[in-house]
Formats: sequence, structure tokens, C-alpha cells
Amino acid sequence: MTQRPDNTKEVLPGPVLLLGAPGVGKGTQAKRLMDEFGIPQISTGDLLREHRKNHTPLGLMADDLMSRGQLVPDDLVNQMVQTRLQQPDTQRGYILDGFPRTLNQAEWLDAQLAEAPLPVVAVNIVVPEQVLLERITGRFSCPVCGTIYHQVSHPPRQPGICDRDGAALIQRSDDTVEVFHERMKSFRAKTAAVIEYYKAHGSRFAQVDGDAAVDQVTNAIRAALQRLRQDAAPPQPSSAGATRLKAVPNV
Ligand SMILES: [Zn+2]
Repeated sequence: MTQRPDNTKEVLPGPVLLLGAPGVGKGTQAKRLMDEFGIPQISTGDLLREHRKNHTPLGLMADDLMSRGQLVPDDLVNQMVQTRLQQPDTQRGYILDGFPRTLNQAEWLDAQLAEAPLPVVAVNIVVPEQVLLERITGRFSCPVCGTIYHQVSHPPRQPGICDRDGAALIQRSDDTVEVFHERMKSFRAKTAAVIEYYKAHGSRFAQVDGDAAVDQVTNAIRAALQRLRQDAAPPQPSSAGATRLKAVPNV
């Protein structure tokens, strides 16, 4: 098991939706929160892959639709999420990745969690667009060993050449300016409704500055969670608030 620092007793993270444009460091931050709080990340992409790989009834339905060139509908994804949320490792919380993506999914999730001790809170990691653009378009990788370089933050000793094996570095085809702007546009279109939803339904939304050192960003997210959980967790009439904040079950 991962060793958890003492301060995990101060915040029971509960369900957390981490939002952020491509390149803000969402993956890195999610990994850190998972380690710190001992909670899983739930990604709909991963769920879909697992169900298909294990040939579950839901996976077979997805296979069937995809083989006919159709999209996997919300309803099927929702069922996969529902099954996943019944696993015991989600008790203290979890990080949602790529879900909810739409207003309907956000409403569905809230209905699912109506009896849960804590509602979903959303944390948006924000980095100025120009900074993101530089982060992404300055990235090069080695086709042989997979090492990733960055022309500003982690340049190779010789420009364009891998330090480890001398291979010529390449740029991923989607690390270009055009692809970046497309992805930003799609990100804004998709997340705007979700952000509005969590802003509108209680204080369940926070924004943190992602243009800082990785540790600082983690600290800001932790502080935001603490604040949101103090503001947002409505006293549960049934449990008289007994499961709020510090009452971490013995796991
Ligand atoms: Zn290499």
C-alpha cells in the first residue's frame, strides 16, 4: 500500500472532478492526489477498454456498436461508471477523468450520488493559453526509447538528438499549433456546461492556477478541496453530518 501522509486525515476528498485544458498537467496532478489520498482515478476511457477486454455484457454491447461504426451512447458509459462506483476502493473518494462531460451526465451523476455522504466537486486547473501552446509545441520525443524532451524546460544536449541513444527526435503530429487550437476549442465547448453546472448547484467549483511548480499546483488543489468540502458538504439529515470531513472510516 501507498504510505499516506498524516494530513490526509484533514480532508476526505470524496468524488472529485479534475478539469483542465490539454497540457495543464491534469494527469500529473491526478496521480499525485491518488497517491496522497489513496483514492482511485476513474476514467471512462479506461472503463470502456477494460469492459471490452474482459468481454463483459456492457463491453460486448460496446463492441457491437463500435463494429458498426456507432458511438458508445451516454447510457452505456453511465452504466459502466455506476458499476465502478460500487467498488469498495471508492469509499473515501475518487478522481473522475473525462466524466461527466455533459450536463446530462452531471445530472445523472448527482442523482446516483444522492445518498452518498459527499457530492461531486469540480476543480479546474487553469493555465494561460500562450503558456500551454509553448508547453505543447515545444515537445519532442525519441521514437526509439520514448524519452520526452522540451526545447525550453528539458532540452536534449544536442538539438534534435536523443541523449540516450542518438536517435533523431520527432514531434507528435498532434503537438502542432493547429491541433492545439482545435483541442482548446473543443475543450471549451465541452467543459463550459459542466463548469456552469457545478457553479450553479452550490459552491462546488474551484479554479486553481496551473502555471506554477508542480508542488505548488498540488498544494493549491488540496487547499481548494479543503475549502470546497467545508463549504459544500450539506449536512446529511439521515447521518447528522457524522461522515463529514474528519470522520474518516478505518480502512
Ligand atoms: Zn532515445
